[in-house]
Order: sequence, then C-alpha cells, then structure tokens
Amino acid sequence: MLVQSKSKKLEVAISKANTPKETLLKGIEILGGISKFIDEGDQVFIKFNLNLPGGFPTNTNFDVLEELIKSCKEGGASKISLGSFPVNGIPIKVLSDILNLKDYFKTIGAELAFLDNSNYYDNKDLSIEQLKKIKRDSFTNVKINENDYPIPNIILNSNKFISVNQINVNPLFKFNLSLLNSYSIIPAKYRKIGKTQHSTIEYNSADQYKKDIISNILNIFTVKRPNLVINDLFYLLEGAGPFIYKDSKIKKTNLMILGEDAISVDLITLKILNFEIDDCELLQQAQSKNFSVPKISDIKVLGEKIEENSMNVKLCFSKIEDIKLKNIFTYPGKYCSGCFKQAYHLINFMKTYMVKDLTYNSTNSFLIGESPIEPEKMGNVILFGDCAINSTKNYKFRKLIVESRKNLIAEAKAKLFKESKSKKRPKIKEKPNKNILELPGCPPDIFKCLELIMKYYGKKNVPNLNLLTKMNEFWVNGKLLDELKNWEVL
Ligand code: SF4
Repeated sequence: MLVQSKSKKLEVAISKANTPKETLLKGIEILGGISKFIDEGDQVFIKFNLNLPGGFPTNTNFDVLEELIKSCKEGGASKISLGSFPVNGIPIKVLSDILNLKDYFKTIGAELAFLDNSNYYDNKDLSIEQLKKIKRDSFTNVKINENDYPIPNIILNSNKFISVNQINVNPLFKFNLSLLNSYSIIPAKYRKIGKTQHSTIEYNSADQYKKDIISNILNIFTVKRPNLVINDLFYLLEGAGPFIYKDSKIKKTNLMILGEDAISVDLITLKILNFEIDDCELLQQAQSKNFSVPKISDIKVLGEKIEENSMNVKLCFSKIEDIKLKNIFTYPGKYCSGCFKQAYHLINFMKTYMVKDLTYNSTNSFLIGESPIEPEKMGNVILFGDCAINSTKNYKFRKLIVESRKNLIAEAKAKLFKESKSKKRPKIKEKPNKNILELPGCPPDIFKCLELIMKYYGKKNVPNLNLLTKMNEFWVNGKLLDELKNWEVL
C-alpha cells in the first residue's frame, strides 16, 4: 500500500472533446488558461515523443503539438523548441528527414531541436574535433545519486518545460506515463541498462534491471520538472504497444489529462485507465525515494469526472511465452525484466514484419532465461540472452545423435540384396548441433539480434528482414553510422 504524502491540493484537468485540438484547448482552459503557464518572453521547450519513423501514435500527435505551439505563442513565448531522443541507433536528423519535421515545425513558428547534433553530420566543413566541441557545448553533465547524465543545455536553460506525452500500453510499465516521457531527455545510449557488478544469476533473480531503470527514470525526472504535463489518451494503442505492431489496436477515448504536477497527472491517468495505483512500481519506488506522491483524494480533479470516464484497456502480454507467433515455440526459464522487454519487442517485430520469413523457416525453438525448458522440437534453436546461453551448455539439444555413415551404407546394401539385417548394434556418434543461434547480451540489443538473425538464416530465407534492412540502409548507411558513433552522436 502506498503511503501518501500530505501535499497541497494539486489540480488536474480531465478534458474531453471531439478532436485532439479541441480537447487540448479545453484542458488548458479548465486549468486557467495558457497565461497560467507561459509568461511574456519565455523560452519554451516542449518534450514530445519521437521514437521511430512509425508516426502517430508511436510519436506524439502533431495536431496536438501544433495547437500547443499556437497557445504558447498566444501566451507570449518568444521562442519555442521541441525535441526528444529517439530509440537507440536512430539519429534525429533521419527522423526529421523522413517525417519532414524541421520544415513542418518551422512553418508553425517553432524549432525542432536536434538534441543529438545530428543536423551537423553532413556538414563536410566541420572536423571531428569541431563536431566534438559542438557536442561538449550543447550538453551539461548533471550528477544525481552518483550517476552522471548528459542533459541538453537547451532543456536546462529553457524558462518553461512542457511534457506532451502520448499514452500507449507499455510491456514493462503497463502504460507510457509522463515520467517515461521525461526520461528521453537523455540520449538512448545513456538510458541503456546493463548488468554491472552483480553476477548474472543475482541480477536476474533480483530483477535488478527493473530497479535500475526505475531509479534512472526518477533521477532524470528531478533534473527539470515540467511546468505543464499533458497526457494525451485521445487515441491510444492497446493490446501490443507502445509501437505499431500487428497486435496493436487503436482506441479512441476523446480524453486528455493535464496539470502542473507530473505525478498527479500520471495518477489520475492510471485511475481513468482502471489500473491499481498500488501495482504501479514506478510510483511505488518514487514514494520510497521520498517523491511526493499525493492521494487521489488530495488531487482536485477539474473538468470531467473520473467515474464517468474510467475504462478498461487491453494491456501488453506480461510473459513472452503468451505471445504466439507462427513457427516459433517458446521455452522459458527464469528471466528478468531486461530480457522480457527486449524479447517482447523482438518477437512483436518478427510477428509484424517477418511473416514470410517465419513461413520459410518452419521449426524454431526460442529459449529465454536461466535454465529454460529443453525444447521438444529441435529445428533451429534460438538462445536469447546470456542466461539462456550459459545455462544450457550441457543441454541435450547441444548435440545431435547420428548413426555412423558406415552403418547406413550397410543397412542400405542389406535392404537391396534382401539380406537379413545385421545383428550388430549400429554405431552412434555425437556431433555438435550447428542449428543454434545465440543472441548474446544482458539483455541483448534488438538491432544486433536482427543482424545475427539475418546472418544465421541467410538473406534468401528471411526476405522481409532483408528488405527492411535495405530500406534502413537507405536512411542510415553503415559508413554514416560509424561516423556518428565516432563523434558520439549515437
Ligand atoms: S541475460 Fe536476460 S534474463 Fe539474464 S540477467 Fe541478463 S537481462 Fe536478465
């Protein structure tokens, strides 16, 4: 049970209307109008969701951003910038080029912030040293609880910070709360959680991955608390999410939840989505780290009523073995949140984009976690993560039992000449099973997994994956990726 703090009455608006734009405007009005949040001459930074080129609702709804920019201008903002760090390995410049973001925001009076400085990478006049200097000048290292986090100066120096957060289901945290939106003000490579000093077994059984990621999320949240938080659930993804997967389904709710305090806005959002607040590990840990987590009854809810708008949403599967996909049979062991999260996205990616590939490769056993079940059907054995690789070294599937070739020839001759069968016992040999694909990591990296999958099956046998890789290379080729890594964009 969460122990609640006695904070002052916080206000949260529940807004409902016919379009996302109307819902946003109504919500701001309910809270007292934009002038309550923006002062004349303010430099505003809007943190939105920019994850993948997949568009809305993987990313924030641009109609909402457009209306918000208009409101900030009416409130007197002198400069409005927007930004976010995408998923690991994707430069902002690439997303901007695909979605035409830079020009689009310019036409509506705002500026897309290239937080990773990737807008400089095709400037041939700049040396690597100059590029590194640009990077140094655009970040400040902020130390929180013994960890260093590089925070873009444009965010630190802004007068007003607004979080516009697209609510979707999330495999690890059930929903993409606004606390998660704040987390992507740091580059993806600094958000990566990996095993540190713990042994893999301890790391797994303590679910240290989840503890570490929550601790990082809360640390980053303290860097710059938003002045206005907008949880947009007008449309949300349910089923599979937070990205557009085969089993993702869009749900229209016509709702947005807004307020000054991110935790209160997240609490009311969970309440509307009929999610038990005591089951929200993120808020539980926030409470244990002395963040102010108010009681629902301490929050003054304005606008629509919670009871009249609460709804059930189909959540993501919480076990990998529950996600069914053609020709892949899952054999789980004990796995932690790290492998769960990565495998969740890999399996959903395969289910969505590799339908033909899975048809071509008929039997695949997917083993995950410490001491997984021995597979019944052999085929290709995929070992996901260090736990699965290391704990199956002596498993039966590692070796194949074969009858010696000499025996087989003798049997064939006997059949041909109708001789009676040899009484000798056939010679049995053991040889290593080569049909094993190891996907290492604690947890594994999805992009690296896809590279290994392609190498293992061969391009011809995974045509969908091959095509997707070619398309990605069109946007980010290997040479460019190396350059970006060189001067630490990615
Ligand atoms: S390999 Fe996977 S299951 Fe094992 S400890 Fe690492 S992240 Fe967890």
